[in-house]
Amino acid sequence: MIPPVLPTYARADLAFERGEGCYLITDDGRRYLDFGAGIAVNVLGHAHPRLVAALGDQAAKLWHTSNLYRIPGGERLAGRLVATTFADTVFFTNSGAEALECAIKMARKFQSHEGRPERFRIVTFEGAFHGRTLATIAAGGQAKYLEGFGPKVEGFDQVPLGNLDAVKQALGRETAGILIEPIQGEGGVRTPSPEFLRALRSLCDEQGLVLIFDEVQTGVGRTGKLFAYEWTGVTPDIMAIAKGIGGGFPMGACLATERAAAGMTAGTHGSTFGGNPLAMAVGNAVLDAVLEPGFLERVQAVSLRLKQQLAMLKDEYPALIEEVRGQGLLLGLKMRIPNTDFVAALRDQRLLTVGAGDNVVRIIPPLIAGDAEIAEATAAIAAACIAIAKKQDAAA
Ligand SMILES: *Cc1c(COP(=O)(O)O)cnc(C)c1O
Repeated sequence: MIPPVLPTYARADLAFERGEGCYLITDDGRRYLDFGAGIAVNVLGHAHPRLVAALGDQAAKLWHTSNLYRIPGGERLAGRLVATTFADTVFFTNSGAEALECAIKMARKFQSHEGRPERFRIVTFEGAFHGRTLATIAAGGQAKYLEGFGPKVEGFDQVPLGNLDAVKQALGRETAGILIEPIQGEGGVRTPSPEFLRALRSLCDEQGLVLIFDEVQTGVGRTGKLFAYEWTGVTPDIMAIAKGIGGGFPMGACLATERAAAGMTAGTHGSTFGGNPLAMAVGNAVLDAVLEPGFLERVQAVSLRLKQQLAMLKDEYPALIEEVRGQGLLLGLKMRIPNTDFVAALRDQRLLTVGAGDNVVRIIPPLIAGDAEIAEATAAIAAACIAIAKKQDAAA
């Protein structure tokens, strides 16, 4: 019999009653160290007093008005995102996939607005993840997400990550732009080189294409900069963000330059809930914390120490851990055993992590994690490795 909740998720048999900082707590008081952060969402951990206050204060005043009226909190948040990024303008959404939908529509509209309506195709990369709407599963190109859902939305050409010749070959008279994650999250914490990104920027400039970055996972401090593109020396024309910006409140945004957004005039795009006062209050509170002097430098320092610890564990357990990858607090362990087994073994040690493609286990803690949490996580990973090695010995 089908359960009341549509069974599209392979959930762990575990439920939490509350959260405190980097910890999630079950109703019988078991504490789990949350190094998954709701899939890179809870940047300030759980029940952060400033976020609780921001949401509570706004909830007591006004929840929702629709975009028929001005939303001062949204004007403020957009202004702050514009002031701190390449962008000149922002559209607010409720999720990452919607931010990507806006980005894709904007890229097509840009070309049409420039008098080139035949340009609608977007080049994307193998291993990419851009969401679960019909257009974003076509953009991501993963067979397992497309299977059974009818004809793939037209207009996406996928090439291997890092292969510039393949990109050049995929460009045609109908190409509107190139869409890429500065670090693939779901794909297994795979990082294209800065040179590759620079080459994409040049191609876009030469051929009148838009460069779109999907920073839904890498954004809002995750890599130790406000946005990952800041490490690369390349700025996009359009950028989708989501996960971290709401710190757990569902929201996303599509950022763009004035030029890229030129065709997006009144009536061309919209969302009932997007940018509502609750989301905007929380988004502003997240930025208050992440933009505080020293916050991102601290993320970089903590990340360095965590990565060193992970590298030591890799040296100690080379039969289990093949490689440590990633940047900032978007780290991955490429495993020699099934990543799902390792995620489960870590969960047995009360450490929560998230699987990814390419047999990787993602280590993506709240950005407020410190040395105590790193020490605890390191010990838990070591304990899981020992437990697995023992099991393997017993089986042999
Ligand atoms: C999570 C994610 C998305 C989709 O976001 P949703 O909020 O689940 O729609 C898109 N792109 C990237 C890179 C992501 O990590």
